[in-house]
This record gives sequence, C-alpha cells and structure tokens, in this order.
Amino acid sequence: MLKLGEIALKGLNRKTFEDVLIKNLKRRLQGAGVFSVTSRQSTIYVEPMDQEADMDLAEERCAKVFGVVSYTRAGEAEKSLSSIQEKAAEYLRDELEEAGSFKVEAKRSDKKFPHQSPEIARETGAYLMERFPHLQVDVHHPDVTVWVEVREAAAFLHADARPGAGGIPVGSGGRGLVLISGGLDSPVAAWSMAKRGLALTAVHFASPPYTSELAHDKVVRLLQKVSEYAGRIKLVTVELTRLQEAIRDQCPEELSTVILRRYMLRAAQRVAQDEGCLCLITGESLGQVASQTLQAIACTDAVAQMPVFRPLIGTDKAEIVKTARKIDTFDTSIEPYEDCCTIFTPKHPRTKPSLEMVERGEAAIDGEALLEEALKTAVAQHIKAY
Ligand code: ATP
Ligand code: MG
Repeated sequence: MLKLGEIALKGLNRKTFEDVLIKNLKRRLQGAGVFSVTSRQSTIYVEPMDQEADMDLAEERCAKVFGVVSYTRAGEAEKSLSSIQEKAAEYLRDELEEAGSFKVEAKRSDKKFPHQSPEIARETGAYLMERFPHLQVDVHHPDVTVWVEVREAAAFLHADARPGAGGIPVGSGGRGLVLISGGLDSPVAAWSMAKRGLALTAVHFASPPYTSELAHDKVVRLLQKVSEYAGRIKLVTVELTRLQEAIRDQCPEELSTVILRRYMLRAAQRVAQDEGCLCLITGESLGQVASQTLQAIACTDAVAQMPVFRPLIGTDKAEIVKTARKIDTFDTSIEPYEDCCTIFTPKHPRTKPSLEMVERGEAAIDGEALLEEALKTAVAQHIKAY
C-alpha cells in the first residue's frame, strides 16, 4: 500500500498525477514479477499476481518512486472481526514475537462495517494478547503498532508505514536537461529536480584525449544510480576539445573558466532545444569554487535563454554529501578521473569577473564556429537502472 503525498492535494489535476505515478510504478516493477497497480481512496495498491513475485525487490523499487509519501507491506483480510484478528496474528507474527509491547490502531473508511474503530482496536488487541501472551499493551511507545484499515474492498493489516521517496511523479512536470559531470554535485542536482517531477535528459562534455573513456563510464554509472529514481535517462555526450584548446590558447587565462562555462551553457541549450527540455540543471553551489561566485554565475547566466535551475545553490558540501550517500552516488563520484573542467585550469581564476570583461575576452575566438563543430560530435545513449 502506497500513500500519495502532495499529489493528493492537486485538485483537478490529481488524476493526471496519479496516472503518471501508476505508469512509473509499473515500469519500475518490471523484473520483480507480475503486479497489478491500482488506485483507490488516496492509496495505490501494488498487488502481486502470482507466487513468483519478488516482494522484497518490489518494495525496494517502490521506495524510490517519487510521489509516494509512505508505503507499507500489508496483509488482506475479509471484512469480519474474526478474519481481521486471525490475519493480524498471522501476518505480523514475526514482528509481534520479537516485540515486548504493542498497540492496535484501527481506521474504518468503510462506514458500513458494523464495528467502530475503537471496538475493532480493542477486540483485535485482546485477541493478540491471548495469542502472544508475552506482549504488553503500550499506547505511547509500543515496539509494534498493528494497523487495521477497514476499506471498501477488504480489511488491511500492517505495521508502521515507512517514509517513501516523497516529491511528485517524474514526468508530471515536464523535462529538464541536466549538465552532468563526474563530480558529487550534479548527480544530486539531477535527483533533486527529478524529485520535483521533471523527467531528465543529460548532457556530458568530454575533452578527449585529455579526458578518458573512464571518466565517461563514471558518468554512465552515476546516471544509472539517478535513474533508479528518475527513470530512463538519455545521455548526450559532446566533445569540447577544440573549443577548450582555443579558449586556452586565445582567451585571457584568468577568465578561461567562466568563458568555458558560458560555452557549456550555450551548447547545453542547443541540446535542450533538440530534446524538448524547457530548463537546464546544474550542480552549482554559491561560493564553492571560483566559477560559482555570484559574479561568475551572473556572467554565465547572461547567455541563458531558458531557466537554469541550480537546486544546490544554497546547500553546503556536507549536505550534498549526505544526499549523495543516500542515493548511493557518493562512492562513484569520488573516483579520481579527470573531468574537462579540471584540465587547463588557470592558476589564478578571476573570482569577480564583469560581463564586459568576459565578453571582450571571449571575442578572441570564433566561438560560433567552434560551437557548431562541437555539437556535431554529439552521441546519444540511453541509461536504464536495470
Ligand atoms: P560537480 O560536483 O557536479 O562536478 P563542481 O562542484 O565540480 O560540480 P564545476 O566543475 O565547476 O563544479 O561544475 C559546475 C556544474 O557544471 C556541475 O555541477 C555540472 O552541472 C556542470 N558541469 C561541469 N563539468 C561538466 C561536464 N564535463 N559536463 C557537463 N556538465 C558539467
Ligand atoms: Mg566538477
């Protein structure tokens, strides 16, 4: 049983959100067995259709689907007090045997059921005390809470629900293009925006032979982790070698980082237009490095013609690391392969460039032609978690 989060509040659009969520769940459950996924009364029911279904895997996958605020495995009973009691004892036997104390909470959304919630809780509690004589009732801090939900279709028994991935269903908010490096930040940024409902396409800039195939492989593995939450991701890889060399050889050294970032944004924007993306996403965090000062970001953003989302802008490294660990990208991100941002780095990058300064410095190269040339190297591949 999966409880809907924010989407339960979306009024008239709710059905659309729910449909997207159900589609995402069905896709993610592939490979775990045959399941029926249906929605009733603000709850999504994921039911195994045969004995082969891998319930642990299904649970693991459902836990990473955005749009679910909490979830629990539940047993189903016929709607009579005796079936509810027996099912509770059978379904939650392991938990109850291990527990010292428990309580029963009952919710009756089927008002035609002849027993009221307090009576259901009391009767079920008494029955469980008989079956598990070691148990004490503790209404304040029980080891186990036995939930009885009497709904239209049946009665459901479960222990406390677990927190789901939260957010809103991927794809219900349009599509964004994430600029993905091999670093810590951009995978977390991608995950954050998928959480807010964006489907993702990714662009990665490589500079062979200065960057290696291993750096590219690292990006693929990072996106695989992100796609456990964000679903399928198309990755477009663009080579910036010639552009980077031209910047290194012809532009003022202290501005080269900002100029490169402006070209990354321009190239990304072109990819975004081709791929139906309405925004760009980067992993920048204010003040983290020279290219992420307010002045540098202002110079970079000056070339943007679509919104650039920087979900990490106000977060500290420690918070980013925490999320990276949670979504399991941390270990991959810290592998030491050269990224195109770390080659040719100036010794003293200017931390407070002005737009006028940058535009003058940039005029030294034939940027348009180099950009076109770079875009011709674009290669696409599809990334799936499983
Ligand atoms: P990250 O941890 O994501 O690498 P960072 O702190 O290293 O970020 P930068 O290297 O300055 O910062 O990059 C800032 C942002 O620019 C990245 O978060 C990413 O969105 C984008 N970016 C950097 N390098 C690349 C690249 N090679 N390909 C695509 N996008 C990139
Ligand atoms: Mg980086």
